[in-house]
Amino acid sequence: MSSRKSIIALIVAMATMAAFTHSCKEEEQHKDYFDQSQLDVIKHIGKTRPTLEDHHLDLDTNWLDANGDHHILVDPLPDSYDSIFVDFNAVQIPFAEKNGIDPIRNFHDAYRLRQPLVKIETCEAYYLDTLTHSMPYLVPKAAKLLEDIGCAFADSVMAHGGSQYRIVVTSCTRSLYTVSKLLRVNRNATPRSCHMYGTTFDLSWTHYEPYNNDYRINREDLKNILGHVLLDFRNKNRCTVLHEKGQCCFHITVK
Ligand SMILES: [Zn+2]
Repeated sequence: MSSRKSIIALIVAMATMAAFTHSCKEEEQHKDYFDQSQLDVIKHIGKTRPTLEDHHLDLDTNWLDANGDHHILVDPLPDSYDSIFVDFNAVQIPFAEKNGIDPIRNFHDAYRLRQPLVKIETCEAYYLDTLTHSMPYLVPKAAKLLEDIGCAFADSVMAHGGSQYRIVVTSCTRSLYTVSKLLRVNRNATPRSCHMYGTTFDLSWTHYEPYNNDYRINREDLKNILGHVLLDFRNKNRCTVLHEKGQCCFHITVK
């Protein structure tokens, strides 16, 4: 009996030594593969945002915001929106007067325009919101600008690994009558509004229209993409841009 006990004790001792030897070997190997500096690099990578390649791989599972919307990698703008897009009415109005129609006072004025107006309708480049204080018309040059901005935005979202998205137009051309009505409800509205010239439209920076509602992208990321697009168009001298906080829109006049 005692010899049986000692055999069992011997087997247990040998097994323990084998396990110890094995774990030591594993540690040795671990040390060979990862020295401390490499481990630090790995820890550091774990804390940073993923690269564009990682992002493409992990987009569906790993990088969602609190609302469950997908993040996409976008460089921040060089400064705040309120510092960059500061083309106030005094800057925009000369371009509105140069490129636009005479403000429409009444129905008959619509037949005596200096140049034709183009009807704006939801299309692949942009989504037209329900307009409450404006009409869906722009001068051709402004309509072309809107279409180009919409296409550039959609292309940029796709290029950043997102899905198909459209900008949302929230305001177009106003008559003197609608401007006077708006003055009563919106303290930021101006009696000499660029919107009366057919040269100016508003793009929401809080709403964007996805083609696929199951795949929504973080709104701040979409605003950053739109910000880069507008900065590019402004740098190319195609428009003036004001970041309107009260109306949550970019107020844009064709140059
Ligand atoms: Zn506006």
